[in-house]
Amino acid sequence: MSEVCQKHVPERTCVACRKKRPQGEFLRFTKDTQGLWQMDSRRGKPARAGRGTYLCADNPACGQEKKLRRTFGAQAEKMALSVAAFHQLNQELESGTAPTGVTG
Ligand SMILES: [Zn+2]
Repeated sequence: MSEVCQKHVPERTCVACRKKRPQGEFLRFTKDTQGLWQMDSRRGKPARAGRGTYLCADNPACGQEKKLRRTFGAQAEKMALSVAAFHQLNQELESGTAPTGVTG
């Protein structure tokens, strides 16, 4: 497993819309040792070995709780909140509007 073909971009499938895209365009979720899902914010970097679950990083619709439920079950609501927070932060960064008058 140490050899990586540089020409090939590993593709992943969004659990919400089933779209295939390069791994770097996804939010990644992994299960911790207690079986709880965690959102891995280090986008694009494979954090550790193990199976991950992927969700479109640029499509807030993919983060809706009802779409996450079949994957995350009882934790769907919590994950939906994490995804929503991620998108909100992204929007603030992209629009350049700081919530509390930061000088810049
Ligand atoms: Zn998606």
